[in-house]
Amino acid sequence: MSWPQRFTAPPEFAPRSLVVAECTACGACCSAPDIHALQKPLGIPCTHLSPECLCAVYTARPAVCRNYQPDWVCGEVAPLPTLSARIRRFLEIYGLEDEFRATERASERAS
Ligand code: SF4
Ligand code: SF4
Repeated sequence: MSWPQRFTAPPEFAPRSLVVAECTACGACCSAPDIHALQKPLGIPCTHLSPECLCAVYTARPAVCRNYQPDWVCGEVAPLPTLSARIRRFLEIYGLEDEFRATERASERAS
């Protein structure tokens, strides 16, 4: 079952969560998750994300991006000062840090 209020963090996150009820273009959701439709790996910014954290292909972005809805995770990540800090927090929230480190090691071995 999904959390009933989209912008309310689950209890274990409440002390750090700020009220963010709209997208502030922080870039985290374009960077942290893997996006198969874009062949984007975990933890790496989308190639279409500009340095200002705006989408360079906004009107032609894929459905997965169009359908993404801001939620309480934005309150956890968007206030952080750098994109890399936002990515780290996003991965931490979803328990993806180990998977990201394994991906990094695999890509280091391949290079
Ligand atoms: S994580 Fe939330 S605030 Fe940041 S870009 Fe994505 S939807 Fe917007
Ligand atoms: S295509 Fe645009 S909206 Fe989708 S992940 Fe890349 S930068 Fe973000």
